Amino acid sequence: MPSTPSREILWNVNSLPAVVTMYALFAVALLVAASGVLRRVELYCSGRADDRLTVPSPGELLKRWGDLFENGLGQRKVARPFSPAAVAHILVYIGFLALLFATSMVFVDHDLGIEIYRGHFYLAVTVMSDLLGLGVIFGCAIFAQRRYLRPVDMAHTRSIDGWFLGSLVLMCVQGYVLEGLRIHVTGDPWAIYSPVGLAVAKLAWGLSPSAAKLLHLVTWWFHAVTVFAAIGLLPYTKLFHVLASSANLFLERSLRPRGAVRSDGDIMGLMERESEPRFGLSTIKDYTWKQLLELDACTSCGRCQDACPAYRSGKPLSPKWVVLDTRNHALALHAKGAIGSSHMPEALRRLDGTLLGGLLLGRSGLTPQGDHLVYEQDGTFRAKNEAVQKAALQIGGSADALIAGEVINPETFWSCTTCMACVEVCPVGINHVDQIVGNRQSMALMRGELPHEAQATLRALENRGNPYGDPADRIKWAHGLELPILKAGDKVDYLYWVGCVSAYDARKQKIARSLVQIMQAAGLSFGVLGVAEGCSGDPARRLGEENLFQSMAKQNIELLRSISFKYVVANCPHCFNTIKNEYPQFGNLADGAQPQIIHHTMLLKELLAEQKIRVKDSQQALTFHDPCYLGRGNGEYDAPRDTLRSVKGLRIIEMEESREKGMCCGAGGGHFWMDLKNGERINKIRTDQAAATGAKMIATGCPFCLHMMEDGVKLTQREEQGFEVRDIAEVIAANLITGEEEPAEHGQH
Ligand code: SF4
Ligand code: SF4
Repeated sequence: MPSTPSREILWNVNSLPAVVTMYALFAVALLVAASGVLRRVELYCSGRADDRLTVPSPGELLKRWGDLFENGLGQRKVARPFSPAAVAHILVYIGFLALLFATSMVFVDHDLGIEIYRGHFYLAVTVMSDLLGLGVIFGCAIFAQRRYLRPVDMAHTRSIDGWFLGSLVLMCVQGYVLEGLRIHVTGDPWAIYSPVGLAVAKLAWGLSPSAAKLLHLVTWWFHAVTVFAAIGLLPYTKLFHVLASSANLFLERSLRPRGAVRSDGDIMGLMERESEPRFGLSTIKDYTWKQLLELDACTSCGRCQDACPAYRSGKPLSPKWVVLDTRNHALALHAKGAIGSSHMPEALRRLDGTLLGGLLLGRSGLTPQGDHLVYEQDGTFRAKNEAVQKAALQIGGSADALIAGEVINPETFWSCTTCMACVEVCPVGINHVDQIVGNRQSMALMRGELPHEAQATLRALENRGNPYGDPADRIKWAHGLELPILKAGDKVDYLYWVGCVSAYDARKQKIARSLVQIMQAAGLSFGVLGVAEGCSGDPARRLGEENLFQSMAKQNIELLRSISFKYVVANCPHCFNTIKNEYPQFGNLADGAQPQIIHHTMLLKELLAEQKIRVKDSQQALTFHDPCYLGRGNGEYDAPRDTLRSVKGLRIIEMEESREKGMCCGAGGGHFWMDLKNGERINKIRTDQAAATGAKMIATGCPFCLHMMEDGVKLTQREEQGFEVRDIAEVIAANLITGEEEPAEHGQH
């Protein structure tokens, strides 16, 4: 028995012709793979500019590596929720890495002559790859079960993906057979470290050594051809997402906060500079290189679709299919050379076009019809939601085809509430909202195609600066309150930005009055803008009316700059997000140090923590509905909860979908102002979720959410059962200890 554990590399095939042939095949595989990858890079390079390559500091660069390690190598988002699919992905991923590592060690030892594949290291790598290979097979079995035995909605996209799964299993099985036959013939003394290979060797006990060697040789070449085919076809199979998603995760971090809409800059300047200015995403040629990369990074996992309130309520929108339809469109055009110029030799370009068309698109459920592709007739594999089955129109017809209108049904884009649930769950860092709002911008600005339900609101914003009524009525909510109305030159600590809904809507005015009551009780220096305040512009921007938004933003910035303040407090998360994250795209709110923009729950939390206000105990139980633009848009989940927890005795019962997973109320993305009457009501679903907690009170921190949840309570006839909806400011105001009043337990001492 040799003293140093190892094995003969290339046992039974170590002849010069065999090695030369193997490397020749490997070179061909690498050439095909490299040309496919480079062609894809050429496609991305054909996209418009994007700021993702701007890294302002070494710290930012470190964060990007952190993103890649956390979600790429670390698979953090893939592991959540911990489901059979997550287990399968992790098993395949880890097993694949282990097998790749073991193969690389063989190469380093044999071809580079570095004697590394020996001793304890050899034994550790052998046992690890042997066992983790089983994990790959098990993981593929779970994927196959989901693909073929679960309902059609889980069987995403292409049959080539099924072949790819099969080839992974085949490669592992081939490896075990090779190992077993080698052990059978050589009597490998270290075979115990290859338990699966040893088991295969035992199965081969009746084979003569010469028959086993022949079988080994045939299997070895079969294995080599399978591996090289997998390498060569990498850009045309699901495995390509390993490269594209890693690149996308590294580039995911944007200088722009998540809640902010992507801006092409000052629209008036753009119109002056360019003779034919283009706004938003009209055709695939308008997508940035980063957006084209995102399309390729999609693994079709369906997490975004499962989280999407529009999809779940039967509207014609699946964020997954928006990505996949656009990707198929881009790749079909790329395959026929309609987009993306090339510096590659003609032969490689053709090969890439053929493989792309034949393998990737030809097996995507797409059927050629004239000059474009359509999904096969029943389309059931596309989604459970029937409206989504019909959302794709013509794929890959022309590079000038309008994405919203000719490639995808425009209603798809209008159905989005911009809740960012898709962005939150996507394990590979895709920003669906950017693409959706970009298409809205094209429809609104380039073609004037807006849902008629939204037009009245936009007209009102343009004419009156608010969606409700006479600007002179804006301050009526404050009737009877002694409230400083700020004018140019005034100085306060807190500027309270009321927002249109809380200023005009009788029910939501109670939020504003409650907040004023609290700020007065805390003795804060604050004021409001009164009739000078206009809409923040959030609905205009989310409806694609970028021009209108920008003029409103500039007007408000000018107004805010005329007053001196340390904080802007907004009780509407949409105003909060717009002023905090979007106004800086157009100007500063002050010269020098910038004021802080805070949501009212952040102020309430602070006032309670500093005991500037005190509240009575309460034995109430309530559930909290996270506003999307406070939570996912700005990462603020704790301030509302901490505020509520300051009320002693008050119990928060969390909904199953809360915090990052919180479901939208259905009002975002301009939907508060346009009722598209498609599918089920989102607020009804959310109200059912709230009621499932057993709490009779739903608290929230947004006037839109409050409206939608109250509407949901009415729709589900829960009013009679005593259900009520309150803003957190109302909850705190109702429990506020005022004047000399003391809480009961204080009085006992
Ligand atoms: S933002 Fe929300 S509504 Fe829009 S696609 Fe994403 S999950 Fe669906
Ligand atoms: S969550 Fe991301 S990777 Fe998964 S289907 Fe949606 S877009 Fe694709």
